[in-house]
Amino acid sequence: MKFYNLKENNEVVSFAGAVKQGLGRNQGLFFPESVPAIADIEALLALPSIERSVKVLYPFVSDDLTESELLAIVTEAFNFPAQIQPISEKRAILELFHGPTLAFKDFGARFMAKCLQKFSKDKKITILTATSGDTGAAVAHAFHGIANIRVVILYPKGKISLLQEKMFTTLGGNIETLAIDGSFDDCQALVKQAFDDNELKDEIGLNSANSINISRLLAQICYYFEAIAQLYRQKGDKALDNIVFSVPSGNFGNLTAGLFAKAMGLPIKRFIAATNANDTVPRYLQTGEWSPNETIATMSNAMDVSNPNNWPRVEHMLKSGIVEEGCVSSVSIDEEQTQMTMIALAKLGYISEPHAAVAYKALQYNANDEEFGVFLGTAHPAKFKDVVESTLGQPIGLPKELADCASETILSKDMDVNFADMRAYLLAGN
Ligand SMILES: *Cc1c(COP(=O)(O)O)cnc(C)c1O
Repeated sequence: MKFYNLKENNEVVSFAGAVKQGLGRNQGLFFPESVPAIADIEALLALPSIERSVKVLYPFVSDDLTESELLAIVTEAFNFPAQIQPISEKRAILELFHGPTLAFKDFGARFMAKCLQKFSKDKKITILTATSGDTGAAVAHAFHGIANIRVVILYPKGKISLLQEKMFTTLGGNIETLAIDGSFDDCQALVKQAFDDNELKDEIGLNSANSINISRLLAQICYYFEAIAQLYRQKGDKALDNIVFSVPSGNFGNLTAGLFAKAMGLPIKRFIAATNANDTVPRYLQTGEWSPNETIATMSNAMDVSNPNNWPRVEHMLKSGIVEEGCVSSVSIDEEQTQMTMIALAKLGYISEPHAAVAYKALQYNANDEEFGVFLGTAHPAKFKDVVESTLGQPIGLPKELADCASETILSKDMDVNFADMRAYLLAGN
């Protein structure tokens, strides 16, 4: 399978090329030349999850990895579960936060790190990435200690929770962090600018570990299959023709992965892209006009994105018929509803956090009585301890992963939104 640039279609690369390059020319995203169809879905669902993930991913990577190499990567990367938890008769959550940094981004970041390690051989690489919270931690932990890979992470200073910050700014070694005096979109713009700077790119071997990297998206396809496999086991095939996924969305990588799963033949009826007040996509689907507003800070801060960088992939899939055009709707949930929903879920016996609450509420608005709604639990509630405790009025414990880093020192360097400063920093440390 080859991957082509969605903006400059004649740029065609292998999987290894797409992983190493991250972004194509003119900031174009890489996209697979075809989407492999699964012949026997039931047989696939019956497999253990690691074996199934190899079958799902192999057609995408077979130019560059043997099946046994892929098996080794998947086994190391996905060494923690994705877990369906029933919430009520028609609702379940897919918990994706049982990895080392307690967010779904561990799946993609760990898979990418193993692939890149394999493909880069001895060449020195700099990973430059922007984070609205959880990417930073997942990427930092996935790459920490890998020889020849320097990681530089940008994040909006003061706009992520202290515990989130501690999870990726305290590691040291090959992990460097820059606290940018701006928004997440400013950070993302700085990263994009660096990728347009060919001299810099060559000098430091630039790579991005953002969800624009195709390897992260491919990894995330696997847990949609796992979710359906678990539901199938719990409910039998009657559950299979009416499943709706509600995806709490920021950069829309998770939604893109879900659409790939559907295009491959996984029985998912449709998707709801749930956003917070940063509602560029729900407004776009309603009016046809793409008009990002200033980014607004919310409780679900990993979704504080007003110009989502995976949208061109989603748009392409909808417009080119890879998935049915009507299979994505989008709902924006405000702060008050988010809090009320966390309380409502607690009454059902489930302690959640703002991102999952946004997705659950979107289901309550948008799913009909015949549909079975699965919402994605993208982060562990303890990652948002302050807002969860103040909303629910009860203390929640810290899992070991967070307790361990809570007392460590933040090693970040402060920086303004200034490309020249960042460029100089990157060159100096190389
Ligand atoms: C990154 C993140 C999201 C948004 O995911 P996208 O793939 O960027 O849409 C949602 N929730 C949490 C907790 C996240 O870390």
